[in-house]
Amino acid sequence: MLKKSVVEHIQINKLMATATDTTIAQKLEALMKLQGIDSSLDNILKGRGDLPEEVRDLEDEIAGLETRLAKFQGEVENFNIQINNYRNAKKDSEKLIVKYKEQQMNVRNNREFDAVSKEIELQGLEMEIADKRIKEIEFKILNKNDEIGGVESNLFERNKDLEIKKKELEVIIAESEEDEQKLLKDREKALKSADERLLKSYTKLRDNARNGLAVVMVSRGACGGCFSSVPPQRQTDIKDKKKIIVCEHCGRILAGVNDPLPGEVKEKKTRATKVSAAAAAATAASAE
Ligand SMILES: [Zn+2]
Repeated sequence: MLKKSVVEHIQINKLMATATDTTIAQKLEALMKLQGIDSSLDNILKGRGDLPEEVRDLEDEIAGLETRLAKFQGEVENFNIQINNYRNAKKDSEKLIVKYKEQQMNVRNNREFDAVSKEIELQGLEMEIADKRIKEIEFKILNKNDEIGGVESNLFERNKDLEIKKKELEVIIAESEEDEQKLLKDREKALKSADERLLKSYTKLRDNARNGLAVVMVSRGACGGCFSSVPPQRQTDIKDKKKIIVCEHCGRILAGVNDPLPGEVKEKKTRATKVSAAAAAATAASAE
């Protein structure tokens, strides 16, 4: 008796829903359509696999290598400037030595001679140090050039890889381009008929959902997005489509309820009786 009245109640609600709340139903329908299009687009992108990401990664890697190459080349330039400075310093010392040697010819006493000799010795030492530094820097340049060679060959290989991957990606994109363009056009249309506020939450939900689902159906008594169970009363409200109802667990918009197959209803009932039988047994046991 009770069950029959519940069913009647639902049917009345359904009638009322179609009569007065068509707008909510339409909004949900429009959103489901958009979801269908977006899921198809997601599938196209999925079909491209990791290629787009691989291309991006390669481009990043190449940019990194180019930066490193420029840095190394700058270092070599700097080394060459240093070598040039030491060479100029050596020339200065040479000139000074020539000057001091002339002075040595015209000294008035031994003390003056010794002082000028010391200056000559000092400049000679400066030249030796400069030679040593130049050798050290030349060695650094040699090592740096090795590193530059390594980076350059790496860069060459990566660029070759990038070219191959880009071509592969172009082929794959070309395969699905027609479908994608059509879907994108459909999407534009679907966006126009979508409710603005709902669209905002739809976009937000899709951004946060790993499977890209923002609007789902309730199937087998569970949310089609997160598979948490949806209480029967809530399912009835969803079917009524009098207001927008979201999943209590994941927040996805629940657009409708897929009616369970007759077998599934029976299965649930038997489980429920089993549970209550077990509960009864437990109470009886504790009473003893
Ligand atoms: Zn959910």
